[in-house]
Amino acid sequence: MRLLLWTAALAALVACAASPAREDSVPAAPAAPIVTPAAPADPPAPAAAAAHAAIGDFGVDLAAGDPGVRPGDDFFAYANGKWYESFVIPADHSSFGPFNELEEISTEHVRSIIEAAAAAHPAGGTPEQQIGDYYASFMDEQSIESAGLAPAQADLKRISAATSREALARVFALPGFASLFDIDLPQDLHNPDRYAVVIGESGLGLPDRDYYLSEDATLKALREKYLAYVGQMLSLAGTADAAARARDILAFETAAAKVQWPIDKRRDVEAAWNPRTRAQLVAFAPGFPWDAFLDAAQLAGREQLVLAELTAVRDLAELFARTPVPTLQAWLTFQYLSGHAPYLPRRFDAAHFAFYGAALHGQPQQRERWKRAVDEVNATLGEPVGRLYVAQYFPPESKARMLTLVSDLQAALNERLDELDWMTAETRSRAHEKLATFTAKIGYPDEWKDYSSLVIRRDELLGNVQRTTEWHWNYQLARLDKPVDRAEWQMNPQDINAYYNPSNNEIVFPAAILQPPFFDPNADAAVNFGAIGAVIGHEIGHGFDDQGRKFGPDGALEDWWTPQDAQVFTARTARLIREYSAFEALPGLKVNGANTVGENIGDLGGLNMAYEAYRISLHGAPAPVIDGLTGSQRFFLAYAQVWRSKYRDGALRELVLSDVHSPDRFRVNGPLPNIDAWYEAFDVQPGDKLYIKPEQRVRIW
Ligand SMILES: [Zn+2]
Repeated sequence: MRLLLWTAALAALVACAASPAREDSVPAAPAAPIVTPAAPADPPAPAAAAAHAAIGDFGVDLAAGDPGVRPGDDFFAYANGKWYESFVIPADHSSFGPFNELEEISTEHVRSIIEAAAAAHPAGGTPEQQIGDYYASFMDEQSIESAGLAPAQADLKRISAATSREALARVFALPGFASLFDIDLPQDLHNPDRYAVVIGESGLGLPDRDYYLSEDATLKALREKYLAYVGQMLSLAGTADAAARARDILAFETAAAKVQWPIDKRRDVEAAWNPRTRAQLVAFAPGFPWDAFLDAAQLAGREQLVLAELTAVRDLAELFARTPVPTLQAWLTFQYLSGHAPYLPRRFDAAHFAFYGAALHGQPQQRERWKRAVDEVNATLGEPVGRLYVAQYFPPESKARMLTLVSDLQAALNERLDELDWMTAETRSRAHEKLATFTAKIGYPDEWKDYSSLVIRRDELLGNVQRTTEWHWNYQLARLDKPVDRAEWQMNPQDINAYYNPSNNEIVFPAAILQPPFFDPNADAAVNFGAIGAVIGHEIGHGFDDQGRKFGPDGALEDWWTPQDAQVFTARTARLIREYSAFEALPGLKVNGANTVGENIGDLGGLNMAYEAYRISLHGAPAPVIDGLTGSQRFFLAYAQVWRSKYRDGALRELVLSDVHSPDRFRVNGPLPNIDAWYEAFDVQPGDKLYIKPEQRVRIW
């Protein structure tokens, strides 16, 4: 099984502020998230801005906007238009915005940490030795080149020796190998005090099912390039009939894509959580050797399982049964080479980038090797690095300020709950109860994982990758029957992101997002509430989005809604789905409002909460006017500038077709027209392009 540090089930559940910006990585499971900074405990008086904000005079880059655009016609362009016209996406990126800007800074910081660790000649088994040697093994291109495919031979032989279906199923179960089925060990949705064994769909090399099935000309052309790439990888490894095998593989993955679930169904937590016994699974999905598979995954004897994409699990088992063994072997070989290409000689790495970076995303240039080495260390040894990172780069006072800001946002939602005109008293009181049990993790974990048993060698890159992958799998297995580790983090402190985990009813903000333009202790309060405040509100909003609302205060799936309130909520979200589905990301490619509705509810609710929190912070005094801008104007401009990004077409297409987040332009122009205060702040009138009549605005939280 391809091991993801971020399990597929969890990724589907854990909702984050933004899509992770991986430039040329293999598309993996639905991916992860972004996070939040803090605001001043008390609204600073206007004069408090004695120290300069990092951006502009008070935290907004006024030169970035296009004053020639009416705010009511296109607020994204009004706030960011000049920047958008002139900004050139760096050649080694497929998209770029504030998240990437901070990532670049974080990457530099982590490099200096790694280099300092390595320079200290640390003892074996210490975190310093592990991160220093992992990094060095990735950087040692000469050794990688001269070793050729030798380090991969044992794994490739495992595949070629698997000539029976039982043997193939056993390979599927091994960490680091492809599989039609993922196994994840997340918290049990019905009982968050224990872990569950979840089996779900997997197996595609392209980002999502539309890439195989759509008749769109661009996607058809990409399929041809993918076919060529599959053939190229197999020939590089010496497969004789590579072109024919590649056609078999594409046909196999296309058949898998046909039965896999679309995004909007995958993210439905009730549909995608189907407890079954092992015997029920064997009867429901015959044709796949489940016992061999679970045994090889070290899950022999597990009787209680959960199936995620139910019909897909059944149909993929059937696909497995009718696919010739040589095709399955060729597929495993290709997936292994493609998944490990960054650790193999240059010819593999270059082919991998030429497809996933250049062809798929339109990215002209690969990220520099040292940056990719930092990414690898973050992905595999993220906590040992994070521990050193926060000691050096996270001011302790940021944590306290952030906690205050979180409680400001909670207070704002409390007030708004009392004012909602569509909710009955019964559901309202349960919503208050859930809000009261929210917890926040800020900066870094209170408890760090112990990696000391992991062996990292300076001269063995592929070995390091394999041992780390196995280590993470074994770590999860070892705790399967133990009490749930609620202190665990799903992100690293050095990540620029944030998330909500419904099973813990918690919002989590890594240290590295607590920087300008998200959070700036010297910025105007309106700016901090509009930027990090809206991110915090977004994460809180996930607790009440179309999926998050299905979880109770203790994190269990539980229906706490009256049927009447559930009906009104669903009708309102349906209108939000329609609004976003009208946005066109690329010619002929519209946003999918159903895929993105959870994130869009988070954005809209988060903005409402943050604006209310800002209003409360003024204690009835008028907001100061700065540079001719009112407090409300600065709030909305700061929000719009957090989401000022530019995408290459390929990256934008992938986002729309495979991600739950809306493109950043619509994270601005989508929610604002549903907020009355935005109309007042910018005098938006009927006739403006984004104008929505008051009675038609979507009001949820
Ligand atoms: Zn989110």
